Amino acid sequence: MSQADKMQERGTITPRAENYSQWYLDVIREADLAEPAEVVKGCMVIKPNGYSIWQQIQRDLDDRFKETGHKNAYFPMLIPMSFIEKEAEHVEGFSPELAVVTHAGGKKLEEPYVIRPTSETIIGYFFSKWIQSWRDLPLLINQWANVMRWELKTRMFLRTGEFLWQEGHTAHASHDEAMVEAQKMLGVYADFAEQVMAMPVVKGDKSETEKFAGAERSMTIEAMMQNGMALQSGTSHDLGQNFGRAFDVRFQNRDGELEYVWQTSWGVSTRLVGGLIMTHSDDSGLVLPPRLAPVHVVIVPIYRKAAQRAEVLGAAEKIAAELRAQTLYGRRLDVEVDDREEYKPGYKFYYWERRGVPLRLELGPRDMESRQVMARGRTGTFAEKQAWSWDGLSEKVLSMLEAMQGELLESARARREEMSVQVDDYDQFKSYYGEGRSRFSYAHWCGDAACEAKIKEDTKATIRCIPWEREEESGSCMVCGKPSKGRVLIAKAY
Ligand SMILES: [Zn+2]
Repeated sequence: MSQADKMQERGTITPRAENYSQWYLDVIREADLAEPAEVVKGCMVIKPNGYSIWQQIQRDLDDRFKETGHKNAYFPMLIPMSFIEKEAEHVEGFSPELAVVTHAGGKKLEEPYVIRPTSETIIGYFFSKWIQSWRDLPLLINQWANVMRWELKTRMFLRTGEFLWQEGHTAHASHDEAMVEAQKMLGVYADFAEQVMAMPVVKGDKSETEKFAGAERSMTIEAMMQNGMALQSGTSHDLGQNFGRAFDVRFQNRDGELEYVWQTSWGVSTRLVGGLIMTHSDDSGLVLPPRLAPVHVVIVPIYRKAAQRAEVLGAAEKIAAELRAQTLYGRRLDVEVDDREEYKPGYKFYYWERRGVPLRLELGPRDMESRQVMARGRTGTFAEKQAWSWDGLSEKVLSMLEAMQGELLESARARREEMSVQVDDYDQFKSYYGEGRSRFSYAHWCGDAACEAKIKEDTKATIRCIPWEREEESGSCMVCGKPSKGRVLIAKAY
């Protein structure tokens, strides 16, 4: 098979402008991140390239959870059906998505189990055993786990039947303390999204209609994808005493009285990988911010004659060893030397480009003579090929990767600004949400669920959040004209 045939076989990436949804699937396939599980409805296989991105996400977030005082624990995947039914709103919200285990060990179970869609109920049950007094509070737990929500319409990473996530669950002695916790963790998510994923987000409250089933208040970070659609990227909930009551989680307060605990829960999932793809990638494939790239640098040795091979490879390995000793954002640089003999350099360039490796270094016989490498960044100002001397190469690589991290955030911010509007006229608003189109609209809304429903019915766009950082500005509801205290964020969403 010729090299050209091999490239053809791998398939092409549909341009974003032509078909954004197909582009997304093409990028996932070409970067070898995941594939549909075929034999298991609505589920996916996360392949090594995709899983290593998730592991980078996990590693960074796990440090942040521990720095904020949380400990990891693990609870059963199966939850007694009666638990789910204890909190009225919770069961109503989750019932349509539940997968239920009715038989085990060859027998019908007396009480069916549900495969956890989220763990408030089973954790609430155990909290009731662990918490007796104010001295046991706050209790700050995080769980890394899989969950299952039976979805009719699925899309890899963004919405799948089974997905991976973390769920924080905390119990507190006062409502104020729980609110501080819920807001703090949303802040942790927002900071992670911007600093690590280079994905700017809007922090805000969900409307009554959109809040988590069983929460008093739900908070969210909303990111904009390249096509103007929103991605709810993380949520944090003030559960009030709802689950405390349902599971009788009581503690003796400092005055010796029994009180229900105040709880929070918060989570992010593998959908972040989808968000990462749709924030940065381009028509040539995956683009990864250096902080999450499993491989930071690939070195491609180039030689024509076999006699040059040992010399070029030796130099490449030496450079790789030097780079691997460097640390970027607390992590050793991951460097690959692509010494596969069966592929030509052109094929290798294309291969690593599609996998989103931030920096490629080429090293050929002429570079050996002038003691330099040819450096090419995956995107942005570094996409222009440059000659870098071996002297001071490590510093150059580190500063390039840091700069690329910043550039990606800046360009995502600029795109978001460009695709955000303040709008007051409802007809004009509707014109923004034609087939396959979206943007971030900031519009006045009276707070009424009927107006919210009408917006969704007319445009498929939804109120993503009531932004925390919004100007106090009186206006009138875009739909009904009644008074409003400020603008809300509206967009179509994944
Ligand atoms: Zn209204």
